[in-house]
Amino acid sequence: MNSLSFVIPAYNEEPNVAEALGRASAVLETLHLDYELILVNDGSRDRTGEIAKNMLGKIPNLRVVENNPNRGYGGALKAGFYAAVKDWIAFGPSDNQFDFNQLRDLISESNTYDIVTGYRANDADPFMRRVNRWGWNWLVQILFGYMTRDIDCGFKLFRREILDRVTLNSDGAMVDTELLAGAQARGYKIIEVPLKHLPRTAGSPTGANYKVILRAFRDLVRFRFRLWRELNDEKKRIEPAPQR
Ligand code: UDP
Ligand code: MG
Repeated sequence: MNSLSFVIPAYNEEPNVAEALGRASAVLETLHLDYELILVNDGSRDRTGEIAKNMLGKIPNLRVVENNPNRGYGGALKAGFYAAVKDWIAFGPSDNQFDFNQLRDLISESNTYDIVTGYRANDADPFMRRVNRWGWNWLVQILFGYMTRDIDCGFKLFRREILDRVTLNSDGAMVDTELLAGAQARGYKIIEVPLKHLPRTAGSPTGANYKVILRAFRDLVRFRFRLWRELNDEKKRIEPAPQR
């Protein structure tokens, strides 16, 4: 790996954002590679953006991208992805539910794979969240085939060039599915690595919200049809119809 953009989405993470940036920066500094750290303030209504901007100049290679108003988890990630300029993109949440030191575990697979995705070896979220997640993974697997046991794990690493071929439409929770399924369908190789998962200790989660879940289901079905259409169109471009 030559260079890395680390994207961190943040929505109302006032109690967590400084620690998340500090931890990400500490790991990135030990890697000795060309990197940037991108904090996406996703239209937060608390002091998240202000805290992040105060860290500019104190944290090396930090950039702050602003979404205004709030766009949702996928919208936050996309803002970061399209701002990123390095060869690889890693992303992880600002709620400190992952140990960013494990970025090393992700990077160690990047020689042989195009996407390195974590899975929560222990899942520290509440019981109902885990039931929902199990159902979601099962459904995605039925529709798209096996990609990883934990689609929505929020700590991943991928080649930035994948974004040139895979369209991410979802502003919501389905963005991880779009990235994995869109990439796998085009022949990119995915590997999964175990990650420790820590409970959220401050701020509040958004992923359990039933509106978020409903939107994700609707988006999933639409995406299945869109991916078929896209692959079909790409095939037609590669094999033009015979001329008469
Ligand atoms: N997030 C965001 N915009 C949103 C909702 C969430 O940028 O509209 C961020 C949030 O700050 C966190 C990450 O996305 O860093 C994952 O969100 P959350 O922890 O709420 O999801 P969960 O872990 O509960 O699935
Ligand atoms: Mg979380």
